Parts: sequence; C-alpha cells; structure tokens
Amino acid sequence: MLFDPHIHMTSRTTDDYQAMAAAGIRAIVEPAFWLGQPRTHVGSFEDYFLSLLGWERFRAAQFGIRHLCTMGLNPKEANNARLADGVMELLRLYVEKDGVVAVGEIGYDDVTAHEEKYFMAQIELAKDAGLPILIHTPHRDKKRGTERTLAVVKESGIAPELTLVDHNNEETLKSVLDSGCWAGHSIYPNTKMDEQRMVTLVQQYGGERILVNSAADWGVSDPLKVPKTAEAMKAAGIDAATVDTICWKNPVNFFAQSGRFDVKEFGVDLPVDQRQLFQGNSVLRGQAPRTDAAAQ
Ligand SMILES: [Zn+2]
Repeated sequence: MLFDPHIHMTSRTTDDYQAMAAAGIRAIVEPAFWLGQPRTHVGSFEDYFLSLLGWERFRAAQFGIRHLCTMGLNPKEANNARLADGVMELLRLYVEKDGVVAVGEIGYDDVTAHEEKYFMAQIELAKDAGLPILIHTPHRDKKRGTERTLAVVKESGIAPELTLVDHNNEETLKSVLDSGCWAGHSIYPNTKMDEQRMVTLVQQYGGERILVNSAADWGVSDPLKVPKTAEAMKAAGIDAATVDTICWKNPVNFFAQSGRFDVKEFGVDLPVDQRQLFQGNSVLRGQAPRTDAAAQ
C-alpha cells in the first residue's frame, strides 16, 4: 500500500485517480495551496476549502483512495494583505473539520515580511488546534529558505515531531533531520528531485522521518511519482521494509498525530461503491458502477 502525502487532486482527472489506485496508492493528503492565479475574494478560499472536505474526498473514495487534507493560507497568497486576515478567520473554523490532518502548506515562497507574519500566525493556529504543520520550502535559494524555516519553527516552540518540512533535496535534508522534523521530498518529472536522486538519499540516510510525494498539481507533474520512486528504491536493492516505511508508515504515523483518523482502519482497503452520489452528483457518465462486495 502506498501513500502520496502531498498531491493537489483538485487539478487532476479521474484518469489520474484510476492510475493511482492501480499503482497501489490507497491514501493521499491534499494540502490547501494556491490555484495558479490569485484569488480575489475570501469567499473563494472558503469554497475551495469546502471542496477539499467534500467533493474531492468523495471523488477519491470512488476510486478506493482515502483522502485527507490540510488547511492553510499558502505563502504566495499570504502576500495579499487585503485577503490574508479574512482567510485566517476562516481557518480557525476549518482546521477543526473532520479529515483535516495538519495546518499547511505554510512557510516561505519569496521570503517576504508578510509571508513570515502569516507563517508564524499559522504555527500558533496549529498549536491551538493540536495539529501538525506541513511546510512548503521555497524553490529558489532553497538552502537559505529552509534554514530560516527551521529557525522559525524552533523559535515557535512547536514540537519538531509535529513538523513536516517539504520539498527537500541534497542541500537541505541533513539539517531538517538534525532538527528533529520530518522531511518530505517532491519527485518531479525532469527537474528538481527525481527517483534516482531520492534512491541515493535513502541509501545515505535510511527511512526514518523521510517521506516522498508527487506534489502533482496543475503544472507539469506526475501523480505516479510515489509508486515510481518505490519501484526505483526496490530496483536499487533497498529493502522492502524501508520502502514501506517511507511510502506508507511514515505518512500514516506523521498525520495520525492529528488524532483525526484511526491508524488501524487505514490498513484496510476502502470498499468502493460508485452508485453513491455527492449532493446528487456522480463521477460516472453512464458507465457501469463498480461496487465492491464489502460496500454492499
Ligand atoms: Zn503543494
């Protein structure tokens, strides 16, 4: 069983869900993020948050995939002072919802004063809600951005074991692991991290507190990067237990700290019943519905 702990399914198709399920993905976390174009109303954030809790969770379940999400004001839109405070108010309500397993993605994009203000405010929100945090690190000048991120985390007093620092590479992994935080790695097609580089990192550091995700979204990305990386690790002779730790147990254990799901339930396949509707809407277009015996 595989877990993609960072994927933006709102931007993906049912073909992706089908391929992910066929490749062994049984659970995902969809972090709240930006949609490629800045939002102009606080209400647009609320409808997006509602879709992560409602329609997208339903779509995933229709393909046998458990869908959890994180709630947050992403770093890019934290720079929009006109909206940020309104979104923070919404977040106080939405972090309490069922299926929300962390506050995120938060952190730095361009490392501005506004980003820092809302990064810190959202760590406080997570502490109040008793939730872990999922941190986005900048793609430009990653090393410095990650160091600054770790300093803010330390100063905030949130426990490092409740902190997942994402988008790591060879330059940042050691300092993240040394801080006691968990370390995510986004595997992209032909850029940034790839499967082979991830294999080398695992050979060097092992599997403890290490996660792998696709970060697939509306840009050039691949929702099958977790299964592909798992295969690359096995092909390189990394033992099955380590692959299972990285691609299943670590994300389960990290997000279980939210107290929002039952770890035991997670080890069992989610039965599919495509006769179900969400607010009257189906993912099917007249196809014969799949109905697993366990769902009957
Ligand atoms: Zn993301």
